Amino acid sequence: MKKTRFSITYWVAAFFIVLSLVIVALCGIGLYRLHEIGAEIERSRLKAAQEELAGALVELSNHLRHEGDIITNWDEIQQPLANPHYYGYWKASRVRQSGKISPLFSDIDLYDSAGNILPGGGTGDADPRTGASEAGKTLYYPEKGLSRISHVFPIHAPEGQQSPLGYAQASFDLVQALKRLHSFDYLVPETLTVSQTASSPIALQDLGKFLRYEISASHEIETLGEAVTKIYIVLAIAMLVSAVTAYLFVQRLLARPLVRLADAIGSLQADEVRMDYVEELESPYLLQELDTVRQSIQSYRQKLSNARLELENRNITFQQQALQDSLTGLYNRRAYEEDWASLVRALAGHREPIALLLFDCDHFKPINDTYGHQVGDCVLQTIAGAVNEVMRSGDRLYRIGGDEFATLLWGTDEHTAMQIAERCLDSVRKEDFRRLGVQEPVSISIGIAIDEIGKSEDITWLQAHADAAMYQAKRPGNKKIAVYRKGEASSEDVLVASLETNALYQALAAPEMLEIHFQRMQPLAGGHEYLEALARIRHNGILLMPDRFLPVVQSRRLEAEFDLTVIRLIQSSLDSETIPPGVGVSINLSAQSLHRPEVIAQLIELIRYAERHPLILEITETSLVPRLAEITHFLGILRTSGFRIALDDFGSGYSPLRYLTDLPVDIIKFDMSLILQLKNEDRASIVVADFARLMRDAGYTLIAEGVESEALLQKVSSLGFSYVQGFHIDTPHALARTDAKVVNLFN
Ligand code: C2E
Ligand code: CA
Ligand code: CA
Repeated sequence: MKKTRFSITYWVAAFFIVLSLVIVALCGIGLYRLHEIGAEIERSRLKAAQEELAGALVELSNHLRHEGDIITNWDEIQQPLANPHYYGYWKASRVRQSGKISPLFSDIDLYDSAGNILPGGGTGDADPRTGASEAGKTLYYPEKGLSRISHVFPIHAPEGQQSPLGYAQASFDLVQALKRLHSFDYLVPETLTVSQTASSPIALQDLGKFLRYEISASHEIETLGEAVTKIYIVLAIAMLVSAVTAYLFVQRLLARPLVRLADAIGSLQADEVRMDYVEELESPYLLQELDTVRQSIQSYRQKLSNARLELENRNITFQQQALQDSLTGLYNRRAYEEDWASLVRALAGHREPIALLLFDCDHFKPINDTYGHQVGDCVLQTIAGAVNEVMRSGDRLYRIGGDEFATLLWGTDEHTAMQIAERCLDSVRKEDFRRLGVQEPVSISIGIAIDEIGKSEDITWLQAHADAAMYQAKRPGNKKIAVYRKGEASSEDVLVASLETNALYQALAAPEMLEIHFQRMQPLAGGHEYLEALARIRHNGILLMPDRFLPVVQSRRLEAEFDLTVIRLIQSSLDSETIPPGVGVSINLSAQSLHRPEVIAQLIELIRYAERHPLILEITETSLVPRLAEITHFLGILRTSGFRIALDDFGSGYSPLRYLTDLPVDIIKFDMSLILQLKNEDRASIVVADFARLMRDAGYTLIAEGVESEALLQKVSSLGFSYVQGFHIDTPHALARTDAKVVNLFN
């Protein structure tokens, strides 16, 4: 079951609501208690008021008795009783004037002893004799109106007669009388009324329950109520203020930072680090704990973004390295091929003129050989810089081979292409190569091919055309820039040359075009039989021999790439066991490949086959002259790894013997030109024969190349050669192999 989750603000609001309810309940209880206390006070006040009233009535009763005594003892009172005719005069003039009558009384009437009111007086209430004690009787007559009260008392003769002479009845207003006589504390005198519900006269002492009044309000309870109300209002305001403050505080200090932190953490999971969170995480939070969390996230984010940056940088570097030539910083052959492929795709079906410019350094090989490869590299860098400088922005310059550069120009006609080419030529001419120690002038040649047809099949020929134009440009006496034009007689032979270039590049890209043929090297005095691996390129059904494509390999400085491909093919032959066990393999290697780690690594891989197939590396004698020390070093490594090193084509060059003694070499392959000398019985033959014996005595294993006849075979065997190789023994041929394995190897 999914639990509903609420925000911190919600919880704070809920807390305050609950707190408010509790406080309201407490206030309610407080108010109820206050009300109870109020009621209690009311009750006690009522009681006090009742007592007060009772006291007042007693006081009134005493007063009435006292006033009755005054009237009773008034000497004039007996005259109207004795002479009722006098009563009218007496009541009208004497009663008020005498000062004997209490101002409390509003009227006074006299009754005879029989209880009849004297004529000239009021109507008379009742028989005054009933209940009129010596002290008198105060009665309330309801029908007489509101608070009219009669006080009736007997009047005796001074002689002390038992029966009274008559009775006096004083009327007065009860409420007025009480007000006058008594000052009330609890009872509100103004509210004092008499109930009219009674049906018969009521005695004064019983009148209490017929009196209606209000009691004065208690100021204490009012004050207390006011104070409590004030406290409640203050409490409510305080609650409200603290709730709002707490809400704001929680919102600002806790809720919002928490939301931000949560968002920031969320943003970390996204692919990119968002800048707004980066900024928000920078300002410190007021709550220490949250700030610690913020700092942690901040540093984590920093680390994450650093890692991402580094990764991106590495990616860019990798991408650049993949498409960049490390020596010149230009785009490399791979970039060229990729751009070429996308160009072919883009141009399919369009008619867009495209120019391919090939740049080649003139006489680079001799420069390299003479001044060493470091100078050679500097020369290439200088040329690359000079050409690249005058390229149009947006145009790419590629290094597609050792000393060969190229550029592809979109929508460029022949005139513009020529202008650009001339600019490049001038730029290189301006360079001072003497600062590199090169004394000879260094120049470049440019071959241009332009295609306006824009069909993809034509595009593939563009490279061959540019190559052909380059050949033209390099011809002595030419202006170093040539544009390929269809049908020009001179270009025909060049096209053949560029066919090999094409074939080579295609074979490097698709190694199944490369075939390894093997030629037997026959042991003459026991030992392993060896097969020399010889490369061929099968192109459009024609088998191209090394003499046709090796010059291209050399001129494009593709030795390492080429050898690497051959070594891999040999490895696949060893894997597929097409070579009989016990038969050794001899591999040709360019000296230029020797300082390439990937070639060395690939060779070292072959060592695991060495037990079944002894391995020989053939290095051509002439290629060894420059960089002797370096080559000695690498040959030493390979030799200790398990290869036997053979010096190939010995005697074809002019290298001093000293080199031979310095090199870690086991085998010497006498060049065919030397072996052919042995055919005759002349001095040259004797020299070669003696030389061979000398070498053999020095401990070298000798191999004779180009043995084409039985006679030569006999000759070399008599001279102590260990192996013979030549058409007389075997011609190079392909071995049956599993093609699938070869393809897999390069995938
Ligand atoms: P190489 O190393 O001197 O190879 C011997 C060459 O002499 C081979 O020519 C072979 O076919 C040829 N040959 C063998 N016996 C006779 C013979 O009795 N008479 C005549 N006239 N020729 C004979 P190929 O295969 O054309 O190779 C030419 C050169 O190409 C090789 O000379 C070698 O330097 C180079 N090469 C061949 N394959 C490779 C390779 O895989 N890597 C490298 N770096 N160079 C290779
Ligand atoms: Ca060889
Ligand atoms: Ca050879």
